[in-house]
Amino acid sequence: MQSRWVDRDANAAIDRFAAQGISPELALRVYTTRLLGGDAALVLHGGGNTSVKTKMRDLAGDEVEVLCIKGTGGNMGTIEPSGMAAVRLAPLQRLRTLDDLSDDDMARGQRGHLLDPMAPSPSLELLLHAFMPHKFVDHTHANAVLSLIDQPDGAKLCEEVYDGRVGLVPYVRPGFGLAKAAATTFDKNPKVEGLILDKHGIFSFGTSAKESYERMIELVSRAEERLKQNRKAVFKSAQLPQQVPPNDDIAPFIRGACSLKDAGGEGAHRRMILEYRSNDAILNFINGAELKRYGASVVITPDFTIRTKSLPLIAPTPQAGKLDDFKRAAHDAVTAYIDNYKQYFARHNARSGGGKKMVDPLPRIVLVPGLGLYGLGRSAKDASIAADLAEAAVATITDAEAIGRFQSLTEADMFDTEYWPIEQAKLGKEKALPLAGQVAVNSRSTNTVQGDIQNASISTYMAVNGDGYFVVEKPTGFSGSTPAFGCKNGFLTAGALVSGSSILNDSPILYLRHISSPSASGNASWRRTTTAVAATTFAVGSSLVAGSLVTRNVWANASGAPLLISYASTS
Ligand SMILES: [Zn+2]
Repeated sequence: MQSRWVDRDANAAIDRFAAQGISPELALRVYTTRLLGGDAALVLHGGGNTSVKTKMRDLAGDEVEVLCIKGTGGNMGTIEPSGMAAVRLAPLQRLRTLDDLSDDDMARGQRGHLLDPMAPSPSLELLLHAFMPHKFVDHTHANAVLSLIDQPDGAKLCEEVYDGRVGLVPYVRPGFGLAKAAATTFDKNPKVEGLILDKHGIFSFGTSAKESYERMIELVSRAEERLKQNRKAVFKSAQLPQQVPPNDDIAPFIRGACSLKDAGGEGAHRRMILEYRSNDAILNFINGAELKRYGASVVITPDFTIRTKSLPLIAPTPQAGKLDDFKRAAHDAVTAYIDNYKQYFARHNARSGGGKKMVDPLPRIVLVPGLGLYGLGRSAKDASIAADLAEAAVATITDAEAIGRFQSLTEADMFDTEYWPIEQAKLGKEKALPLAGQVAVNSRSTNTVQGDIQNASISTYMAVNGDGYFVVEKPTGFSGSTPAFGCKNGFLTAGALVSGSSILNDSPILYLRHISSPSASGNASWRRTTTAVAATTFAVGSSLVAGSLVTRNVWANASGAPLLISYASTS
């Protein structure tokens, strides 16, 4: 791993941010934070954090010592100075004298000492940064370091590789306890250039932004060097079928199996978006004969748990020509996964005193031997994040196994992070859109008068966005070949397309129109529906031949009007 520090760029950052009244120290702090955040082998999706201890003026104009630290969950690769929260340093440092600090009190302390109350909430690792005396502190979850420490003898490997240059902190969940443990380790040898946190990641220190950043790169490079030595070939492949069906055949089954029946009405389901990934590294990993052992957990650093859950689902191996068997086996595997998750929750909820609320028990990562992996999420973005984390886990576990044996956190430690309210808060409280995850219209192999409706593109659009839906409408007349619509009165109503209905039999052409935002407020909102949604692949107003519609889960809105066809053939 090479340092990406360039003097010219660093100076340009100082000049650029000076125009916003930002000090050179903070400008360089932002510059190196972006350098770290730009490398997926160091941090991913809100992981990692950096800080600088500096002076700022408060509202009264008095100069105060502050710790400027990345806001929690923020993205290091694109951070702006406003993404760094300035917290008064002295009150934070005083907390070290406490024996214990509850999560609620810690959260209060984090926000309570902000210089600007509008600033983002500081990183959960705020106190660890505050307890270190160094001006600059950098923290990453570097894959190479995780490959060393996610091992039963991780501490020994680190001693070997770092020879006293870093302090080793035993595993403690992030928060006050970890900050205290790190400070205790540091005090034993204040000459160290950084700390390694068992099963978690690495810190580096410096008197300048450049020194702290380049120490991080150098320390991670040491781990990378070690991973190149005495490697054994991994993984020994399992017996796999000669031919495995493609993603297009398998994804709908996974999606169908990973759904939960909703209280929303007959046929209504909560569904997930899937992101598929496959490459040589992934195939090597998922095709291994011992996948169930080393792939049992993909939590390579604790904050993965909120995105990946503690365990991935290892799906059955699909075989070409036997899709029905796979469908059944996938359903069984998901049912077993859900049972297991409920037991895991009950066990650890009881251990930790009860009162926690179980999140949905569906997997967020699915490994399909022979094919690839899927990230699952309630939105396309969440699915993609889960897939990115899964790929990082594949790389890290593969390297760990090549020099030893991968060992994740204990189940109890994973639960404690997954259900830590402060971690859960990172996911936000956004309410899912009404049709998020649903394929609201799927015309299947519909022939059309005005050109093909691309059912795959509609399905994808609907499932990924889920923020609107398509109605099936009968035109009131034609102007030349252009259909005219009467809006609400022309919409087909729920039940109109059931087999044998007169509309299905007598009306040869129906039209599909997009409603961009569901509303029960009446005609006015339905009238604004002529914007094309994905003009390159699907023209709003394209016609459907009635008989070819497959109708299932026919829904109407509260006023009983527009028809919505939700069709998921494989669930
Ligand atoms: Zn961390």
